[in-house]
Amino acid sequence: SRPPVKSAEERLMVAVRIRPLKNDESQRVLYARDKKTVIVEDGDKNDPCRQKKLYDKQYTYDVVFGENSSQEEVYDITTSNLVKDVLNGYNGTVFAYGATGAGKTHTMVGDSNHPGIMVRALNDIFEAVRDKEEEYSVTMSYLELYNENIRDLLNPSLGYLELREDSRGRNIQVAGLSEISTTSTDEVMQLLQKGNKARTVEPTALNQTSSRSHALLSVTVRHTVPLNKTDHLRMRIKQGRLFMIDLAGSERANKTKNRGKRLQEGAHINRSLLALGNCINALAGGARYVNYRDSKLTRLLKDALSGNCKTVMIAHVSPSSNQKDESRNTLIYADRANNI
Ligand code: ADP
Ligand code: MG
Repeated sequence: SRPPVKSAEERLMVAVRIRPLKNDESQRVLYARDKKTVIVEDGDKNDPCRQKKLYDKQYTYDVVFGENSSQEEVYDITTSNLVKDVLNGYNGTVFAYGATGAGKTHTMVGDSNHPGIMVRALNDIFEAVRDKEEEYSVTMSYLELYNENIRDLLNPSLGYLELREDSRGRNIQVAGLSEISTTSTDEVMQLLQKGNKARTVEPTALNQTSSRSHALLSVTVRHTVPLNKTDHLRMRIKQGRLFMIDLAGSERANKTKNRGKRLQEGAHINRSLLALGNCINALAGGARYVNYRDSKLTRLLKDALSGNCKTVMIAHVSPSSNQKDESRNTLIYADRANNI
């Protein structure tokens, strides 16, 4: 039997993660005041009003992970419940949002000593289906969305892939995308790292390794179960799908001082991030009509974002003074997703 329809609050969780200050970053202007609040300091340090913290801005979210948060803690609080849902035949989505260098890939992929959400989620899914290969099948795909073009990160030589849907805009599929089945966590880590190396990374004025592409890992769990309580001979398939998405850097095109090609990329990135923000806002507000058509990102995620599904947005910020404007933009974007 289906669980009761989730309320908007249950369907959307907005989290903020603050990455540690680096050795070459001297000034911290942003910190977690408690488990739900981020403080951004403002004003001149010598100003008496500053000393009374009169200029400090405060932002509140469902959960805030401070600089010392562990990969395990972030996974447990944001994603472990989505994994349970997916094993029960429901869809879920986790997004990492934020400017380049704010910690998105660390949260989603991490490294072998600090595995991130993608690796932990797959590990838990493999653990749950172990020795039940007859009942369950698990497959995954990993794709990149760059300038509204889709590439297979598990098989980049395939070139651009087409997004197909039926005439009613349903049953959206990426034609030719590799769907692989593996149950080895080590193999997954290697596939993700190899896939990440294939991501489109191009130098910009702002950052040498600015990532301008979205990376989408999709894991599908199919569970073969009896048709119903009385009919154990006929079977049906319960399917759950978990999307884990490392979004492109959210920094503004105008900040990168780019012209021509880069500026257009920026516009595309903003278009899909804007479309995503609008969809999430509409869903969080319980809107009956949500427009998914504005970008490929939202078209791809239509089934995962609509209906009785859970969405988690993890917004990433740097605590450093030289990233303050970007951090503030990210906190405001995430606040909109939270305060509907
Ligand atoms: P993004 O993917 O948002 O561009 P990265 O995940 O690549 O950012 O992080 C930038 C740098 O900061 C990397 O060297 C990464 O290892 C480090 N980093 C980010 N978040 C953390 C964290 N929570 N703990 C330790 N190091 C981090
Ligand atoms: Mg990254």
